[in-house]
Amino acid sequence: MATYVHRFADGGKDDKDLLGGKGANLAEMVKIGLPVPPGFTITTEACRAYMRDGVVPPELRVEVTMAVREIEDAFGRQLGDVRDPLLVSVRSGAKFSMPGMMETVLNVGLNDASVRGLAEMAGDERFAWDSYRRLVQMFGRTVLGLDGDLFADALDTLKAERGVTSDVDLTADDLRGLVATYKALVLEHSGREFPQHPREQLDMAIEAVLDSWNTDRARLYRRRERIPDALGTAVNVCTMVFGNLGEDSGTGVCFTRDPATGHSGVYGDYLPNAQGEDVVAGIRNTFPLAHLEELDPTSYRELLAAMRKLETHYRDLCDIEFTIERGKLWLLQTRVGKRTAAAAFRVATQLVDEHLITLDEAISRTTGEQLTQLMFPQFDRSGETTLLTRAMAASPGAAVGEIVLDNAQAEARAAEGASVILVRRETNPDDLPGMVVAAGVLTARGGKTSHAAVVARGMGICAVVGADKLDVDLTAREVRVDGQVLRPGDVIAIDGSTGEVFLGEVPVMDSPVMRYLSDGLDAGLAAAPDDATRELVVAVDRILEHADSVRTMEVRANADSADDALRARARGAQGIGLCRTEHQFLGERRHFVEAVVLAESDEEREAALADLLPLQRGDFVGLLEAMDGLPTTIRLIDPPLHEFLPDLTELSVKVALAERDGGADPRDVKILGAVRRMHEQNPMLGLRGVRLGLKIPGLFALQIRAVAEATVELRERGFDPRPEIMVPLVGSVREMHLVREEALGILTEIGRGSGHLLDLPVGCMIELPRAALTAHRIAEEADFFSFGTNDLTQTTWGMSRDDVEGAFFHDYLDNGVLTISPFETIDALGVGALVRVGVEGGRSTKPELKIGVCGEHGGDPESIRFFQGAGLDYVSCSPFRVPVARLEAARAAV
Ligand code: PEP
Ligand code: MG
Repeated sequence: MATYVHRFADGGKDDKDLLGGKGANLAEMVKIGLPVPPGFTITTEACRAYMRDGVVPPELRVEVTMAVREIEDAFGRQLGDVRDPLLVSVRSGAKFSMPGMMETVLNVGLNDASVRGLAEMAGDERFAWDSYRRLVQMFGRTVLGLDGDLFADALDTLKAERGVTSDVDLTADDLRGLVATYKALVLEHSGREFPQHPREQLDMAIEAVLDSWNTDRARLYRRRERIPDALGTAVNVCTMVFGNLGEDSGTGVCFTRDPATGHSGVYGDYLPNAQGEDVVAGIRNTFPLAHLEELDPTSYRELLAAMRKLETHYRDLCDIEFTIERGKLWLLQTRVGKRTAAAAFRVATQLVDEHLITLDEAISRTTGEQLTQLMFPQFDRSGETTLLTRAMAASPGAAVGEIVLDNAQAEARAAEGASVILVRRETNPDDLPGMVVAAGVLTARGGKTSHAAVVARGMGICAVVGADKLDVDLTAREVRVDGQVLRPGDVIAIDGSTGEVFLGEVPVMDSPVMRYLSDGLDAGLAAAPDDATRELVVAVDRILEHADSVRTMEVRANADSADDALRARARGAQGIGLCRTEHQFLGERRHFVEAVVLAESDEEREAALADLLPLQRGDFVGLLEAMDGLPTTIRLIDPPLHEFLPDLTELSVKVALAERDGGADPRDVKILGAVRRMHEQNPMLGLRGVRLGLKIPGLFALQIRAVAEATVELRERGFDPRPEIMVPLVGSVREMHLVREEALGILTEIGRGSGHLLDLPVGCMIELPRAALTAHRIAEEADFFSFGTNDLTQTTWGMSRDDVEGAFFHDYLDNGVLTISPFETIDALGVGALVRVGVEGGRSTKPELKIGVCGEHGGDPESIRFFQGAGLDYVSCSPFRVPVARLEAARAAV
């Protein structure tokens, strides 16, 4: 029989695929002797079977019976017992954390009879009825799919009737009445009674948690976080322990280090006399964890010991959910904690200094994405600012935008191009669509572990939470702060690193990490406003330095100008992997190209090309000087010529109108003729790249001559230029042969004339399937390869890289044909197979052949891992992403 159920004692932290993150870590805690309430995990295998068959596997019911009985025997309580009932929680738990995206049902096992048993056992009538009303509410919303507001409104009405503002002021009788109201709501809106049988409750709750894997918001979250839909969730069924049994009980969340800064210490939120969800939901403002030390020093000490044990065991920052039931500490969850980008770098180097991890491990604990976040600009505080309020810094970054109050408003304004800040009393998973499009999130309630904070950190958007001076009034559609009234559309600025909220625009400036990356360590340190940031800059420097020493792939940059090249070089680029020379022909120089195209004789064309020569030479002198001593790949002109000519329709209209009004400009007529001649239905598959070079005599020759002359000029000025000439869009070895012959001829001629040996490498891009498939032949004529994965993806999928995003990508992401755009992350199975074939083919002819990649994928972390595996020598990416690629190439190598 398949095993769909694992006892907590049966697994460990490495079983995340099968048990989900939560289940695996619960198992690990049991293994190392920490106090975890008894329970079991329904595996992701069961979820996958459920998704496949549409029904819960029959074996699962049997296995659940066996596991429940074991808990009952171990605990001495029976599920639904009328005297001393066992209650369980039913929680989701996927391999990758999806905070708040899936469902949880607590207090399963309570019914009209066992509620009395619970009251007796707890010696607290009020508590029992409060637990029961929570079950009916959660069950109604989660399992029966009723609108949560039905229950929230009933609760508000009751509080208003009783004249109280807080839940805790309701009496046992009030809550008993509320249960009756809730049950009536269930009957009215779902058409069925609230199920009284505990096992029926349990089975329905399990099924609801399995279903929650596929809610819209869970799918949206997974798409954003690139979590595959096929994984499925595990379900954890765990004996309930109660944090709401009075003042000697409570619940909280803590971190072994500050997840925002990385500082070592005791961080967390604690809420006395409350049940777990109250903290995460941000419904009540919590106390700092230190408060627990005063309330219950024994549990506090025990918790600190557990935190230390977990951090030593995981050798990383852990976050922990715990409950204290009448002075007894229980750990309900732990995991290696999510953290801000700054904390990731600082924690990694702190752990190195504490000899808990090695520098190689430190590299694997930080990511290129985190580094990117640290490179974002921050607020410039030198000018006047109007501080509205200050609250908790929950997710770093600086965001300026107009206030929006709900998803619809956020999405509408963002679609119009506005930067928006979602302002809410608190957020819950339903706010995800608004958060996705927002530059930042501001909430009036909740702590560092509230939904808004956790989700914003995960998404890398900035968040300020718990701004209790803020009164968010959705009815009046306004936000009041200290007597000021703000409305949607008003601009505010929030600083997720300090918790400040400003009225109006605040200018932004480079981050200290960016200063460090661009201008060196001293500049970065000088730009850091405080010790914590200085510590961060040093941490980034240490990690990148080590990354550079362990990675095996070089990192180059795609740059077309000397300025870009210098920027890239400062950020650690070891060369230029792609200079798109066509970019040098745009703008004012467009008419030179026009002249080449319009030339009616060889002489005219040669004259036009001759005009271009000094300009191109100047471009290359600048670029090669900036990259002195480093390889600089100059690609011969690539795109279709019509891109340099006027639009066919516009010019036709212009000429037609002019003719009607007495005669068109003869030059326009001539150009129109050329545009008509050159018009192509599929220009990206047309006359471009090497085809253009072979069709228009002298075009490539001009560029090769310019490279050669720039090289000679710089050498004579004492520089060490290292150009590499690259031919685009090659599909046949013969094409490469023809261009190479031409190139070698020019290099020899200029070499002889100048007295310099110009043995410059001449290589090609591999960006057509045929090039990859015949790479062994092409390598006979190429000194190096560079994969153009943009075109290779376009031509392998047969999808236009310029059109697909808007056309049908959304549908393809929805229906699962794609999980991510193949133009963003290399499609390892398809396009990647061609890359492997190309590498193998090329090196079978020339074992030492230098091979790189210069498509967009060169800066994408997952693709970089692929290129490492494929045996590439370098990746080339935009100057901004060079530091990211340095780190990711190292992560791929260790
Ligand atoms: C490519 O196709 O991947 C490439 C780098 O060339 P371009 O993007 O200029 O077509
Ligand atoms: Mg290309």
